[in-house]
Amino acid sequence: MIKVVKFGGSSLASAEQFRKVADIIHSDESRRYVVPSAPGKRFSADTKVTDMLYGCYELAAKGKNFDAEFDAIKERYNSIITELNIDLDLDKEFDTVKACFIGRAGRDYAASRGEYLNGLVLAAYLGYSFIDPAEMIFFRDDGSFDADRTIKAVGDRLVGVERAVIPGFYGSMPNDTIKTFSRGGSDITGSIVAAGTGADLYENWTDVSGFLICDPRIVEDPQPIRTITYKELRELAYMGATVLHEDAIFPVRKAGIPINIKNTNKPGDAGTFIVESTSQKPLYTITGIAGKKGFAVVNIEKDMMNGELGFGRRVLEQFEKNGISFEHMPSGIDTMSIIVHQEQFGEKEQEILAGIHRNCHPDVIDIETDLALIAVVGRGMKSERGTAGRIFSALAHAHVNVKMIDQGSSELNIIIGVSERDFETACKAIYDIFVLQQL
Ligand code: ADP
Ligand code: ASP
Ligand code: MG
Repeated sequence: MIKVVKFGGSSLASAEQFRKVADIIHSDESRRYVVPSAPGKRFSADTKVTDMLYGCYELAAKGKNFDAEFDAIKERYNSIITELNIDLDLDKEFDTVKACFIGRAGRDYAASRGEYLNGLVLAAYLGYSFIDPAEMIFFRDDGSFDADRTIKAVGDRLVGVERAVIPGFYGSMPNDTIKTFSRGGSDITGSIVAAGTGADLYENWTDVSGFLICDPRIVEDPQPIRTITYKELRELAYMGATVLHEDAIFPVRKAGIPINIKNTNKPGDAGTFIVESTSQKPLYTITGIAGKKGFAVVNIEKDMMNGELGFGRRVLEQFEKNGISFEHMPSGIDTMSIIVHQEQFGEKEQEILAGIHRNCHPDVIDIETDLALIAVVGRGMKSERGTAGRIFSALAHAHVNVKMIDQGSSELNIIIGVSERDFETACKAIYDIFVLQQL
């Protein structure tokens, strides 16, 4: 039995957290491959080492002095090493990193050192081998992740390695420079190592007892989800439930490996199982709620639109030409709405509008901004009638005006657009009607 265990930043933020992590690893022999993040926040006003590194590198890249900032980073690691009495001296490593900062080794290199150094500390503390992911996680020249080559390389490299620590978040480019995944990317590394080693389980250890029905920063003490399918999770992750990086699903899913989200601070809690499919009935009609702010909607009206061949294509072409992808596109007989990320759209707005006017001759185009999208996701919604109705009535009771609604063809999710200022109220109202009122 092989388990790959990934520990997030808050799980490795201090010596005390390192002790919990070691207890978890030692309590189960099959926890053989460990993927650490960089030390995260020890308290809410603290700074993650990754952010300290980005800040430091920015100074270095401008040719400014960054000694004090760099010393603060060294101190984060040294305090852990000293407190845990680990036989390890990182001074040479720090000197190399500093020299590379001065030599402008790149922003990705800088950020990756958070995981690299933490990996060295954790490997020494556990007595595990240290394996640098730059040797086996590969990106292509265009910056995309080379999954096939990587999974094979990971398998080849780790065969015969009984126990190892593999830092998360980065790999290497064909020219041997370092490249990171996007923020939160250690989750992806864990998934890659699980797929490469053919693990039985990928445990993702964090600071909450699993995937919760709603963001705990919006709803107080939400319930954890016991079992969720990859598809449901992807919908929620994409819409802002950031417990797990959205790209962390693909490698394990392909290999049929389940993910278990667990809480480092409460290891006895069951957490959430993420699986391909399940016969387990969800406890509630909905599995989860997630949402994001920062959307704009372009509403287009034209009489007889639905009879005009190629109208939709010509509209979308204007977005495509300007490199803007759209999120949703609800439509009526004479209306069509395109929902886009406000910030990206803002940069190309006039070009796109002019293109639509020229090529589609609409009667009216109007733009609404500051929209939030909320995804209500659940495999149980398909077999249950009246879900949309319940959402509407809950939102009406909470005095939230629904600006848009879009149901995915899989009947797995319903997307609701509301004004940004109603976002939190709307999430709470939906949680209330489907969870609290069912208890
Ligand atoms: P780690 O550092 O372990 O990778 P993250 O900060 O990336 O942890 O993810 C865990 C955090 O995700 C939680 O502390 C919580 O604030 C946030 N979060 C957002 N939505 C949810 C949700 N639906 N369920 C659980 N946590 C959520
Ligand atoms: N340390 C990186 C970040 O803060 C990667 C991770 O934590 O997964 O984004
Ligand atoms: Mg994370």
